[in-house]
Amino acid sequence: MDRQRNSRLGNRCLVILLIVLCAYGCKEDEKPAVEELVEVIEEPEEIIEFGFNIEDYIVKRDTIKRGDSFGEILERNNVGYPKIFHIAEKAKDTFDIRRLQVGKPYTLLCSKDSLQTPRCFIYQPNLVDYVVINFQDSIHAYTSRKPVTYVEKTATGIINSNISETLEEQGLSPRLAYKMADEIYAWTIDFRRLQKGDRFKVIYTDKYIDDSIYVGVHDVKAAYFEHNKEPFYAFEFVTDSTKGIIDYFSEDAKNLRRAFLKAPVKFSRISSRYNLKRRIAVYGFKLRPHKGTDFAAPIGTPIMATANGTVTESRRKGGNGNYVKIRHNATYETQYLHMRKRKAKVGEFVKQGDVIGWVGMTGNTGGPHVCYRFWKNGKQVDPFKQKLPEAKPISDSLKVKYLDFIQPIKTKLDNIHFLEDVFEEQNQPEQIIKQNNNLISFNH
Ligand SMILES: [Zn+2]
Repeated sequence: MDRQRNSRLGNRCLVILLIVLCAYGCKEDEKPAVEELVEVIEEPEEIIEFGFNIEDYIVKRDTIKRGDSFGEILERNNVGYPKIFHIAEKAKDTFDIRRLQVGKPYTLLCSKDSLQTPRCFIYQPNLVDYVVINFQDSIHAYTSRKPVTYVEKTATGIINSNISETLEEQGLSPRLAYKMADEIYAWTIDFRRLQKGDRFKVIYTDKYIDDSIYVGVHDVKAAYFEHNKEPFYAFEFVTDSTKGIIDYFSEDAKNLRRAFLKAPVKFSRISSRYNLKRRIAVYGFKLRPHKGTDFAAPIGTPIMATANGTVTESRRKGGNGNYVKIRHNATYETQYLHMRKRKAKVGEFVKQGDVIGWVGMTGNTGGPHVCYRFWKNGKQVDPFKQKLPEAKPISDSLKVKYLDFIQPIKTKLDNIHFLEDVFEEQNQPEQIIKQNNNLISFNH
């Protein structure tokens, strides 16, 4: 890399040197000739990639194929085995060459002569990170990252049928819908029951690599959602910078998250609610109370712990089939039935959102679903009728900080206008007439 920097510096020096030489050596009246010279010896355009001026090399790009190895790739490019062995040995503290994965891209920088000898091997395990094994002089290896930039953007939308459609119509990422429905407003707004005319504004950041490769929505900084004409603000705030804990709070610092998730599976449908008076035809309409809530979802859908807690049961038993039970605190327990497979051991501490098993049909069940049972003080209750505890509230000292922090963001959010509002403002005279008409009819 240093050599590149030196040669670049060299080019620049050459240009400056010529100007200086001519400025001293040329007579005043010969000045136009000087300008011509400067123009001819312009610094060659550089294309820097992975920290190299790739114009200095013959660049060979490919992806790791099945059966490929570091040795074979280099051998195909005329590097002898002793050298390959030597390179692998020297590089091994930084990167184990056996870790190359099929399908990942790599780049060989080769000498610009007829031999096209490989000088450098660059491997990209993901879009951001890359590993450089440089063997043009001495052998050295290092890992580096492509520059990542975040661009702040805003968006608004009005719901016609569902949020994904509204976003799609505007060419916005479905990840924004996911973030709002499943992360920010999961406990305050039921996105399966949005109203036509519900609307939202959102301030978010998009992520780019190398200023050009779009990676997707990185983060939602703030949102405003109007559901049933009721406003719901959400502001992202770091409550613990050392642990990296981020939560969303309302404009008056209330945590939008609840201690429990609303559902143990994503994108599911409630097929049977908690109902103590349920009667079923196949059982001769006898009273068969249903003390759980059934969420229908395809077999294999991950089942999540709805809150932090300790696994107290994980086994297969009778009509329950494969099930897991979690104790969250002295008051609450939850239970998840009919799993195809369990992924939780007794005694294990699980966090809200952790996968504890997968949807199946074990035990007594007519179709793939998870029967979710919610216990309060040892009794099964309807989780949807409970006033679920809020997640950890913000501390008093942080609250002051938070309110200060969100002030400019809220102003920004409030200043984003919905398209329909802008349209109404432009047509205000008409609106006044309408109002007058109403007044007249009212008088009649
Ligand atoms: Zn059930």
